[in-house]
This record gives sequence, structure tokens and C-alpha cells, in this order.
Amino acid sequence: MIKLKPILFSAVQPSGQLTIGNYIGTMRHWSNLQNHYQCLYCIADLHALTTFNKEIFFKESVLDTLALYLACGIDPEKSIIFIQSHVHQHCQLNWILNCFSHFGELSRMTQFKTKIDKNYIKKINVGLFTYPILMASDILLYQTTFVPIGQDQKQHLELVRDIAKRCNFLYGNVFTIPKPCIHQSGSKIMSLLEPTKKMSKSDLNKNNVIFLLEQKKSIFLKIKNAVTDSEKPSKIYYNLQKKAGISNLLEILSAITNKEITFLEKELDGIMYSEFKNIIAEELYNFLSPIKESFLYYRNNTSYLEKVAYEGALKARLQADLTLHKIYSKLNFFSSFK
Ligand code: AMP
Repeated sequence: MIKLKPILFSAVQPSGQLTIGNYIGTMRHWSNLQNHYQCLYCIADLHALTTFNKEIFFKESVLDTLALYLACGIDPEKSIIFIQSHVHQHCQLNWILNCFSHFGELSRMTQFKTKIDKNYIKKINVGLFTYPILMASDILLYQTTFVPIGQDQKQHLELVRDIAKRCNFLYGNVFTIPKPCIHQSGSKIMSLLEPTKKMSKSDLNKNNVIFLLEQKKSIFLKIKNAVTDSEKPSKIYYNLQKKAGISNLLEILSAITNKEITFLEKELDGIMYSEFKNIIAEELYNFLSPIKESFLYYRNNTSYLEKVAYEGALKARLQADLTLHKIYSKLNFFSSFK
């Protein structure tokens, strides 16, 4: 008998250029995961509508993200890569789950509260509020067991689990209860100028963020300007309370060099912050160069990207349909299809 691999689902919104936060928090693990799990890697274009701005050219952003997925080592022969809006079942399940979710629990989502508190986005749409339910649909549709996420999505995933358990309690075994995979290191890369907040691709101040396709000059400049501290004499060590900026830079360096932070602290002992920053900028540039090169190769081959997206959607729809029919039948919907 063939032993089926557990299902793993992950997604990124094509709402702008992807950052080293996206990469370090989740995407760097993807190519290895596809050897152990049945992986579904989704480009969440419907989610990106929650923070939609006219300057985002959707089709271009989706193709960019797809090319980056491939550049990060995702193999369409091993994993299902697809675009969320190509699989209509996400919206269908979304409506059903809306009716099994509570206003109160959505109101408690800290990501939503942060976005409205900081007037991060000028006009708040309802989609931004109900976003975690669409996320629940994405995950539950595929009977997912594992969801690799950064810290920022932990609360959302808890909600997904609650919704799934609620449906299972009412209707029997409908959904697999998903588990988060949060890596110890690099699960929350912080902004360069405000190291107490998350590095985010939708940050209005682009100096807070290093993009995966960032130019060499700007990598060096942004890292040079990154906030540190005024401890005298300057010393490089990890301490989130006292040294948020330095700790974040150490976290980035550790992720891209695969060296433990404790090892780096010893290695970098006695050097000046400016020297430390130069090392990071150099390492980042070397690290991102092959990704960028590979990105350009795929990005210049639109017909191949279209083929990957088309075939991925066909495979995803097949799996999604099974769950949708299951829940329709549990809900006792009238169906004339057999
Ligand atoms: P998003 O940018 O919201 O589409 O997030 C896509 C994935 O990247 C999610 O799993 C996030 O948890 C992860 N992610 C986004 N920003 C960061 C960050 N600054 N640090 C670590 N992980 C992140």
C-alpha cells in the first residue's frame, strides 16, 4: 500500500515585493519540506485584495511571486504551486466558514487591530477583518496537517484550528486539524528602522525592508542605516529588550549563514557596529544574488510560468473538490450531482 505523505500548505500574498522576512520566516524551508510532505504552495491573490492599492499590478505581482517561488527551489513536479483565485473552492468554503465564525473572535485578532490602530491602511475594508476566515478556507480545503508560518500568523492559525474543531464537533470528522510549524530562529524578522515591529512588504517606508530582489547599493545603504543602540563600548550580542536592532541583525545573519547566534556573538566579538553591518550587507548580497539570477530566468519565461500555474490549479481543484463535497454533504445541501 502506498503511504500518503502528510499535507503541508503555505501561502504568500503577492501584495508587493517579497522581503527577506518572508524568505527567512517561511520560504527558506519550502524546498526541503517538499521532500517530506505533499506540499501545496499558494499565491494568495485574493488575500492581497484586503490591502489593495491601484499601484499593484496584480498579474505582474503574481508572476513575480511565482518566479520567486521557483527561484527559491520549489519544484512543480514535487509540489502543487497554484494561484488562489484559480481555485474557486476557496471562496465557496470561505462563505460556509464565515457562517461558523464569530464576530468576537475576529475582533480579537492583533494583526487587524495593529493595522487599524496605526492607520496603516487608510480605508479599512471588511475583507481585512474577515481575512483569517479565508485563511482557514485555504488551509482546511486541503485537509492540511502542517502549516509553516512566521510568528505573525500564530494567532490566525489558532483561529483556523478553532473553526475546524467547531465544524468537527457539529458535523463529525470534516476537517483535519492543522498544526503550525514555527521555526525557532528567524520566525519574526523585524523592521530595520523600527526593530520592535515586523518587517512587512506593505510597509510604507521602504527603508524598513530588504526585498529579495534588492539592488546591491540599496542593500548596503539600508543595512548601514539600520537602527542599533548607543551602548558604550559597543558590543554585539542578542538581547531583544535592550538591543532590538542588533538582535534583529544577528537573527538575519544567522538565518542566511546557517550559523547559531551564540557562535556569531563569539565570532563578532570586539568589532564595531559599522563593520558588523558591512559583513551583513555583504553576506546578504551574496545570499540573494543566486535567487535573483534564478528569478530573472523564470520571470523571462512567461509561458512556462503560465503552464505551472495552470497545471497547479488543476491538481489543487481536484483535492479541493473532495473537501467541498464532504462539507456540502455534512450540511445536507441538496445536490443533483452524483
Ligand atoms: P505575508 O507577507 O503576510 O503574505 O506572509 C507570508 C508568510 O511570510 C507568512 O507565513 C508570514 O508568517 C511570513 N512572514 C511575513 N513577514 C515576516 C517577517 N517579518 N518575519 C518572519 N516571517 C514573516
